[in-house]
Amino acid sequence: MTDRLYYHDSFLYDFDAEVRSVVESPRPALILDRTAFYPTSGGQIHDMGSITHAENSGAKVRVTEVIDTEDGHVVHYLEAPLKDVKPGIRVRGEIDSARRRDHMQQHSAQHVLSAAFVRLFNMPTVSFHMADDYCSIDLDTLSLTPNQIESAERLANEIVLENRPVDIRFTTRDEAAALGLRKVPPTERDQLRLIDIHDFDLTACGGTHVEHTGQIGSVLLRKSEKVRHGYRVEFVAGLRAVATARRDFSALTETAALFSANIYDVPQQARKSLDEIKSLRKQREQSLEELADAQAIALLAEIPEKNGRKLVVRTLSDRDLNFVKLLAQKLTRQATSIALLAISSPQPALVFAQSAGQPYDMAALLKQTMAKLGGRGGGSKDLAQGGVPSSEGLADALAEAANALTA
Ligand SMILES: [Zn+2]
Repeated sequence: MTDRLYYHDSFLYDFDAEVRSVVESPRPALILDRTAFYPTSGGQIHDMGSITHAENSGAKVRVTEVIDTEDGHVVHYLEAPLKDVKPGIRVRGEIDSARRRDHMQQHSAQHVLSAAFVRLFNMPTVSFHMADDYCSIDLDTLSLTPNQIESAERLANEIVLENRPVDIRFTTRDEAAALGLRKVPPTERDQLRLIDIHDFDLTACGGTHVEHTGQIGSVLLRKSEKVRHGYRVEFVAGLRAVATARRDFSALTETAALFSANIYDVPQQARKSLDEIKSLRKQREQSLEELADAQAIALLAEIPEKNGRKLVVRTLSDRDLNFVKLLAQKLTRQATSIALLAISSPQPALVFAQSAGQPYDMAALLKQTMAKLGGRGGGSKDLAQGGVPSSEGLADALAEAANALTA
């Protein structure tokens, strides 16, 4: 079993050790007799840092991942093999202290927060998750209100401000039972490591923690969402809370500048803009409807009826497909007609339509025309549409389609 130095001192950032075994594949790794590196476990993610050959300071490699094995060894995965390494040699380990401090802030914040939810609302924490950017706890509860979130956040920050001592204690399982732990681990191990936040929380945990709650800095609760067995609450603590607040402020400032508004007026401004967009969209739809109607009347007036129907063949520019489809529908509803319409710009396209009861097949005619233009499209017997790669040959193809109908 590896002797875990972090069990007794979370602020130990460098240490000496002896190599016990060397792994070469699939990834280079070392097992030492003792270590201050924390392996991923109990919701907390692993430390990083470096390991140096004690007799050759040039032989130094980065530790990229640290894991726990079932038989109690800590495995240090390395970025590359360590030069001249073999069992028995002395090495020096160095922990990335900024990363470790961040993890201590998050993990201790989690204990404070979990205890706050129990004290205030009797909501136990069932799991803890730490990622590189945020952390979350899952609460065993049927409901969770924004007010409860705020109250738990406030109590957690009060505990931070009171700067209570955080002690590491070791007890037997039996002793622990009498102490009233917030959470007792399911392991068979006889000795338990307890994290004691004075007069606030006592729980069994193998993680690295601050020495006083003040070192947590602050706790900021973020998103909450319903999950399968309760509610998940995301949070950030310490410097992460500051970095998150900074990012929020930048995003909000950028948004406020778009509205030329104060940041606190952004929700109101955004709501106003969305309402405006909605009403303009409605107005636009109505105008296009009226325009299509008028244009259809004008076009039909120009064209004489032949064989009981009017044949409208037109190439339009600066129109979108939806408008031309609307125009085709108006034309074929206002009079017994066939409309062969092309759009030359901005997106070249074809729309073919006929009044209900007419004998042709617009989808088939479109397919024939598309075959010549290299476009793609489809539709029904009465209405078909498709895009073409360019406006070249569009007028000729349209005339050809018209000829096919009269032939
Ligand atoms: Zn813990």
